[in-house]
Amino acid sequence: MPPKDADARRAIPPVICYPTETLPQPDMALYRAARTGAQKVAEVTVPPRDAACFRVSAGQFFRISSVEGPQVGDLNLWNADDLSERFYSGKTRALHGTHLTTGDRMWSSHPNLRPMATITDDTLGWYGIDEYGGSVHDVIGTRCDPYTHNLLTGGQYHHCCHSNLTRALAQETDMDTDQAEAQVHDVLNVFMCTGFTRDTGQYFMKASPVRPGDYLEFFAEIDLLGALSACPGGDCSSEHSSDTARCYPLLVEVFQPAPAHLDGWHSPARNGYDRSHGIVDQKTYSKP
Ligand SMILES: [Zn+2]
Repeated sequence: MPPKDADARRAIPPVICYPTETLPQPDMALYRAARTGAQKVAEVTVPPRDAACFRVSAGQFFRISSVEGPQVGDLNLWNADDLSERFYSGKTRALHGTHLTTGDRMWSSHPNLRPMATITDDTLGWYGIDEYGGSVHDVIGTRCDPYTHNLLTGGQYHHCCHSNLTRALAQETDMDTDQAEAQVHDVLNVFMCTGFTRDTGQYFMKASPVRPGDYLEFFAEIDLLGALSACPGGDCSSEHSSDTARCYPLLVEVFQPAPAHLDGWHSPARNGYDRSHGIVDQKTYSKP
């Protein structure tokens, strides 16, 4: 039975967990100026139902574009020099909300917790939040994977984003499949339109509003190794983890600004916490 004051307890207004006033803000004017006149230096095409890796140096921009038809992409990012520093979807969600757009950042895992990339342009920024609570570019999903597929259907499917990312990373780094799989992490769902149902709180997806020519662009804050999967769900209007949806490639392009345009910008330092966790003597675990 609910307590007598149940309604009063439910009526307490929420408090934002992480007010962004104290979050270091990106210098968007500097990024805009640096992007003007930046030269394209590389491009990678991600085949449908597959993934590809790409490398971006700190201070460069990278753009993910829809090219042939509505297609969702699952993005992983690592520090190119230390794969243990990787995109931290959960904390990024806590800091910026369920979906990312221009000005938001992709934060890295503990103990680093620093911006890996800043979103500098989003042609789907107009979408906002629809009547179902859906929005674009989420950090609430994980990535489609063959284990959940097997759990729910008993099937064996090898082109889930999890497996696509695993194969691409193994190929890029010469790791074996088990080693590469251990590096794959929760993604930024580029172009995917998702939310939680209001009545049951369940994760939902719906047809992505992305069209050829749309793009999401990032500034690389540190040297990055990226992997992008063109999800087997295509525009994710019906199902994923199968070969039934229409799928299209995605394009990744890298742009190099003129060095003078980055005057005043520095690659962010790792997080400033001292990592002692309240322990003074590591051998006796004594507290201060
Ligand atoms: Zn997927």
